[in-house]
Amino acid sequence: MSIETLPEQTQINSASTFDKDSFDQNVMSTYGRFPIALERGSGSQVWDTQGKEYLDFVAGIATCTLGHAHPSLITAVTKQIQKLHHVSNLYYIPEQGELARWLVEHSCADRAFFCNSGAEANEAAIKLARKYSHTVLEIEKPIILTANASFHGRTLATITATGQPKYQKNFNPLVPGFHYIPYNDIEALEAAIGELDEGDYRVGAIMLEPLQGEGGVNPGNRAYFQRVRQICDEIGILLIFDEVQVGMGRTGKLWGYENLGVEPDVFTSAKGLGGGIPIGAMMSKKFCDVLQPGEHASTFGGNPFVCGVAMAVCQTIERENLLSNVTARGEQLRSGLQAIAAKYPQQIIDVRGWGLINGMELSPDITLNAIDIVKAAMEEGLLLVPAGSKVVRFVPPLIVTEADVDRALQILSQVMASVMEDC
Ligand SMILES: *Cc1c(COP(=O)(O)O)cnc(C)c1O
Repeated sequence: MSIETLPEQTQINSASTFDKDSFDQNVMSTYGRFPIALERGSGSQVWDTQGKEYLDFVAGIATCTLGHAHPSLITAVTKQIQKLHHVSNLYYIPEQGELARWLVEHSCADRAFFCNSGAEANEAAIKLARKYSHTVLEIEKPIILTANASFHGRTLATITATGQPKYQKNFNPLVPGFHYIPYNDIEALEAAIGELDEGDYRVGAIMLEPLQGEGGVNPGNRAYFQRVRQICDEIGILLIFDEVQVGMGRTGKLWGYENLGVEPDVFTSAKGLGGGIPIGAMMSKKFCDVLQPGEHASTFGGNPFVCGVAMAVCQTIERENLLSNVTARGEQLRSGLQAIAAKYPQQIIDVRGWGLINGMELSPDITLNAIDIVKAAMEEGLLLVPAGSKVVRFVPPLIVTEADVDRALQILSQVMASVMEDC
């Protein structure tokens, strides 16, 4: 099929049948799923198999940067699959080089490594930090400090890095070499570095999210991060930022760290990078030669298909000036959420976020949880996702329009009125 004969989005409008029982019988039950099946999308809208329309403020959890069925995405996917979709990293891949160049030109990074997901990008960063600790810092048993309430992925090393026991339960023995500190607490960080400097143990790196996504939409504190940067420079250890959720424009800046006035030594990206195509990247400023040929690899990592598509995402962010849209829509959304929160001061205790990653926190003193609001909103045609038990998270596509945000706020205020009546 050539690009010219691609089916029009509007032609795919018939609701199809979906066999939930068959799905549940054949797919492992690793996810708690909502009982709807989504089958098509356009912009910030998605439709389920019943033909019901939803406003998508989940976007594949902060992933569908350009929303659904964006013309640039369709063109890039079609072009690349017709040309070449996969070859091994045994050979040079021009698309990988071009994407790396764009990332290097648009960040503090000097070079990039490509993989397939956020967890894998963090694994690569952890391996880099381990090797640097051994070979340069000469630490026998290097420790990476990570934060309480952090989230870094679901592999064994990254659930260990994740400072939330609920993700680790029953998966022990965990990977040694991680230690948790409270987020945004400089005294606790300094104390941990002191305490851990004993025998063969020493801190070799600190890994943090510029804003904690899964952990409850907790923005990093500027003064804290600036002091963390100073400490890392003073003692020569690596500062790693997990930009998987907040990178690629979600905060209104291309990278989360730009909100903090601090640059990392190593950072990772995934979710928004490919606009929904599976890709991850680990990037570094200065420490690009730590991992040598044969020391890290990925079969799919950086193949022509994902890199060609991710490049189109990057170019579209620039061409459509999406960062300013993110800032404007983010302000619109937050002020609307604050207006809703003002109606329920006992129940909603905070509204916070950067750009288009925002959270609305419910009081610990009420029985109502984030999931209750998410379910009620879904009924009314608005998709939302919790971030922990008490925070409702709003992460729409970066192409979301003013009318979309107004509509989402209108639905949410109706939903709040009805759930508050019940609780
Ligand atoms: C989602 C997420 C990850 C894990 O990414 P996967 O692609 O699911 O492996 C890691 N870190 C952060 C901050 C995330 O939000």
